[in-house]
Amino acid sequence: MKALKAIIIALCLLAAAAVLAPGQAAAQRRFPAPQFEAPYEMPETAWPAARAMSREVVDVAVLFVALGVAAYIALKARSRRAMFVLSVLALAYFGFYRRGCVCPIGAIQNVTAGLALPGYVVPVTVALFFALPLVFALLFGRVFCSGVCPLGAIQEVVLIKPVRVPQWLDRTLGVVPFLYLGAAVMFTVTDTLWIICRYDPFVAFFRLGGDFPMLIAGGVVLISSAFIGRPYCRWLCPYGVPLLGTVSRVSWRRTSITPDECVNCTLCHKACPYGAIEPKTPEGVHEA
Ligand code: SF4
Repeated sequence: MKALKAIIIALCLLAAAAVLAPGQAAAQRRFPAPQFEAPYEMPETAWPAARAMSREVVDVAVLFVALGVAAYIALKARSRRAMFVLSVLALAYFGFYRRGCVCPIGAIQNVTAGLALPGYVVPVTVALFFALPLVFALLFGRVFCSGVCPLGAIQEVVLIKPVRVPQWLDRTLGVVPFLYLGAAVMFTVTDTLWIICRYDPFVAFFRLGGDFPMLIAGGVVLISSAFIGRPYCRWLCPYGVPLLGTVSRVSWRRTSITPDECVNCTLCHKACPYGAIEPKTPEGVHEA
C-alpha cells in the first residue's frame, strides 16, 4: 500500500518536474521569434487555438470544483441521479464547450514529453489536469471517472440496454489499456506520434467535425456504448484503469455498498453493467 501511495506522489512530482523543465524557455530566449515585415499573416496551425491564461485558470477551477462535487455525491449524497446530472454538465463543458482539450488522458503525453524531450515544457494547466484527478483518486477513489470525464459521460448518456460481458472476455480486454499506455509513452518518447489525441474516438463529436475514419471509429464506439457499459473506459483508456484505478486501490475513502445492510445476494454484482461491483469479501467489505 505504501508503495502505491509512493507511485501517486511520484506521478505528481513527475508532472511538476515536467512543468519546471527549463529547456524551452531558455531556447525561446536564445532564439527570439523572427520579425516579418511583409504583410503576411501567420496561419494558425494548432486547433483548438491556444486560450488566454485566464480562461485556462477557469478550466482548472471548474475541474477542481467538479471533482469536489463528484466526491461529495459519491461518498456523502450517494445519489446516482445527481452523479448523472454532473456527468452531463461535465460533458457539456469539457466535451462540447472545451472541445475535449485539455483532458487528463491526453495530458499523459504532455507530461511524458516534458520529462523525455529536450526543449518541451508542459503548461502548468496541463500538468494540473493530469495531476488533480490522481490526487482526488488517492483521497476519494475514481471520482473523475464517475462524474467529471467527458469521455466517460458521453458513453454513459447513450447507454440504453447494457448486456453483461463474459468475465473472461472482460478480463482479457482489460489488459489493453496498459498496453495502450505503454505505446503512448513509447511513441511520445520517440517523438513519433501522440496516439491518444490522434486516435481519440470522441473528439470528432466534441468538435462537430473530424476526419472520416475517426468519425466512423467514434460512431462504432458510441453504438457499442448503447449496449455495453463504457467500453472505451474498460478496454482502451490509458488513464482510467492503469493510473486512476491503481491509485484508487489505496485511496483514503472510497464507495462501498451499504455494508451493514448487504445480505450478499450478489444481485448488484450480477446486474452491474460495468462489471465493477465486487462480491462481499470475507471481511464484510463490499466495494464498487
Ligand atoms: S476510464 Fe478514462 S475515459 Fe473513462 S471516465 Fe475514466 S478517464 Fe474518462
